[in-house]
Amino acid sequence: MAKIKKKVKSIRVDADKCSGCRSCEIICSAYHAEPKYSIINPARSRIRVIMHRTNDIWLPVFAGEYTAAECMGRDKYFIDGKEYEECSFCRAACPSRDMFKEPDSGLPLKCDLCESDPPLDKPKCVEWCHDDVLIYEEREEEVEEDVKIDDMEIGLKALVDKHGMEKLLETIARMSQKN
Ligand code: SF4
Ligand code: SF4
Repeated sequence: MAKIKKKVKSIRVDADKCSGCRSCEIICSAYHAEPKYSIINPARSRIRVIMHRTNDIWLPVFAGEYTAAECMGRDKYFIDGKEYEECSFCRAACPSRDMFKEPDSGLPLKCDLCESDPPLDKPKCVEWCHDDVLIYEEREEEVEEDVKIDDMEIGLKALVDKHGMEKLLETIARMSQKN
């Protein structure tokens, strides 16, 4: 694997400032709707705000990688006297919960930093967060060149895990005969 210079994009989360307004969930789901802005449904958002009002917890978490297997153990965190439930900080779409999955199909969702052509100045959730919780950052880094797994590949992998490769190929063959 070759080393290359790459622009690394990230979003820093200053969770202490979060008011739980959920604007980030609204705009993310609208921006990724087909066609764009046709539907608002936080359940389709690639950022979710973990909320425990009595504990004064508002924790924005971005959808990360899909995983076919649940963790064998779970972690509880105590930070500044607040107790965070198991899985609160986890970014995975995994079989143990409905988080970061399309509500209809169950297919996993992953934050793509609002990739678009031409690129946006900043991701939509950052633009819509008026409490400055989400801060967009870019930096140059030397990294190993990697194979990029896009949304399509993640979705297909989930379908293979769920139904098996043979069933998936049969379905694609049947669909292509109809078109
Ligand atoms: S938009 Fe900002 S303040 Fe509102 S819930 Fe999201 S992260 Fe928190
Ligand atoms: S960066 Fe874009 S895709 Fe990722 S959570 Fe924010 S709005 Fe959604």
